[in-house]
Amino acid sequence: MTQILRINKFNPEADIISQAAALIKSGELVAFPTETVYGLGADALNPEAVAKIFRAKGRPSDNPLILHICDVNQVRDLAHENDVSRAIMQKFFPAPLTLVLKAKDSVPKITRGGLDSVAIRMPDNPIAQSLIESSQVPIAAPSANLSGRPSPTDSQSVFQDMNGKIEMILDGGGLTDFGIESTVIDVSNPGKIALLRPGAFAIETLEKFLNAKVSEPEKISQPRSPGMKYKHYAPKIPVEIICPEDLTLSHANKFANSGFVGINQRAKIFFKRAIIFENVNNYARGLFFAFRELENQDIARIFVEWIPDWGIGRGLRDRISRAAGVDTNQS
Ligand code: AMP
Ligand code: MG
Repeated sequence: MTQILRINKFNPEADIISQAAALIKSGELVAFPTETVYGLGADALNPEAVAKIFRAKGRPSDNPLILHICDVNQVRDLAHENDVSRAIMQKFFPAPLTLVLKAKDSVPKITRGGLDSVAIRMPDNPIAQSLIESSQVPIAAPSANLSGRPSPTDSQSVFQDMNGKIEMILDGGGLTDFGIESTVIDVSNPGKIALLRPGAFAIETLEKFLNAKVSEPEKISQPRSPGMKYKHYAPKIPVEIICPEDLTLSHANKFANSGFVGINQRAKIFFKRAIIFENVNNYARGLFFAFRELENQDIARIFVEWIPDWGIGRGLRDRISRAAGVDTNQS
């Protein structure tokens, strides 16, 4: 049985944090909220603990994990830094932004999915930060869902996927802030910063700071960022993308037995069950929860609304495309 402990998001109770940290230090798994989604945490430097993450999720072993830190000084022992990575960290951390750098040998191969690089992030959530600080190790944490399922943005979704497989869930209450995972960039070559995975951190913000373009993910059969090649985020019923201009009467019969997730108010006329958000930020925040809610309803299909390609919209489009099984760089 997995223990769920309610914890204050803004002022996490010290006794709960120390219980959770003791589990991490002894090589066990603890799920905890971050500002993006819930993470499934283990001591990143303990290969047996990290192996438990891959087993609990059913995650392919070549899909590397992100190391979560609470202090930029931790990076020195984990990765080869450069001026650009330092400047980005200094400016933006903590943030839903993950930096990929050349790894140092202290990071076990299993944690980095066999790669020579390592991904590092400082989450902007007091529960996550206190847990990392109290554990005194970087915490490897992918999303706390079964591999391929929608990422969990509340504690009950973690429980659905992980009950009996992990020791503890820290329940921060409600939904996580952003609702989609971090933006991952490769900064190992300071002259050519590359986007590996769009996500919660707007790439425009980074480009403005760098005063340079960030290069796009390459559509290649052997992706640099291994997670890119797997189907992801999919509910149990089919997902299809719909453009707002197609939400018209002439398409209505196609929608009759379907669900909808998006921001377009017109959708409520057409669908059996429509989850409509006020804006793109709330759409990103609620997308995965909406998937889990709709898959348990008597509908044949979920239509997700396509949105413009800027800010968090970039990351949201990526998640929507993958859930629909299109444009996933699959080889
Ligand atoms: P998640 O599945 O949300 O934990 O995200 C982990 C993702 O971060 C992976 O699937 C990769 O896309 C990316 N990532 C982690 N480590 C690396 C790395 N060393 N090199 C490139 N991408 C990485
Ligand atoms: Mg994930």
